[in-house]
Amino acid sequence: LDPRLVSARASVIGARMALVIIRDITEQERLDQMRRDFVANTSHELKTPVGAVSLLAEAIESAADDPAQVRIFAARISAEAGRLGQLTGRIMSLSRLQADDGLTDVDPVSIDEVIAASIEAHVVQADSAGVDLTRGGDRGAWVRGDAQILIEAIGNLVANAIVYSPRGSRVGVGVKADGGVVEIAVSDQGIGISESDRERIFERFYRADEARSRRTGGTGLGLSIVKHATQRHGGEVRLWSRPGRGSTFTVRLPQIDAPPIEDTGKKRKK
Ligand code: ADP
Repeated sequence: LDPRLVSARASVIGARMALVIIRDITEQERLDQMRRDFVANTSHELKTPVGAVSLLAEAIESAADDPAQVRIFAARISAEAGRLGQLTGRIMSLSRLQADDGLTDVDPVSIDEVIAASIEAHVVQADSAGVDLTRGGDRGAWVRGDAQILIEAIGNLVANAIVYSPRGSRVGVGVKADGGVVEIAVSDQGIGISESDRERIFERFYRADEARSRRTGGTGLGLSIVKHATQRHGGEVRLWSRPGRGSTFTVRLPQIDAPPIEDTGKKRKK
């Protein structure tokens, strides 16, 4: 054994290890930076409604002898509180989805039930926005996962489709179950998304149209939740859009066979 060879190999191995360590440190730094950004963005987003609530409370104090004014301010406090509730709920969903542990609830989930619940939760919103909300496509598809997370994700897509659409337009939720993949497509005839925004809208707190999103009560977290929820289920989200014409978000999930009736009965009663 040539000692020079041994030392040469040792230095190669040493260099490789150093590379691995450097890579780990960079990855760690990236994650730390993401966490810091998330905390900074979250605090920034929370400041707006909290500030509004305290200003409105002061306004109520000084308008105490004008009941009409008090009612207006109280209604606005209630709206801001609702916004805070939605924001904290979404932040919690997202941090749960981003935690390293896998899904805890991995039962068979009926896509029919996920879609029915996601639509049901937004019927009133669609009605008041004058948008026709319809469901089409295949029935009877199943996936494995957490029904509540999937309902939240598809619900976010439906909510966005309604928000970014004009009155009198249609939002469709369609299913295609084929070749071991279930595709759930949420389509709208709304404002659409430009090519540069398409790459970024799945990022946390990113809004293509900042003013519109805030006006309509958006948090900038909905699509981030959709992306993480889908990935947690071993799937992916695809987006097609044309500005001025509309958008289609497609969630693709691994399909499973329909479970035996007794399991489905148990799920339905829940
Ligand atoms: P928000 O709460 O602001 O809607 P999301 O994460 O759900 O946050 O969406 C991010 C951004 O992507 C939105 O602010 C909006 O600009 C854009 N967007 C999402 N869905 C649609 C859609 N169906 N049509 C047009 N733009 C959309």
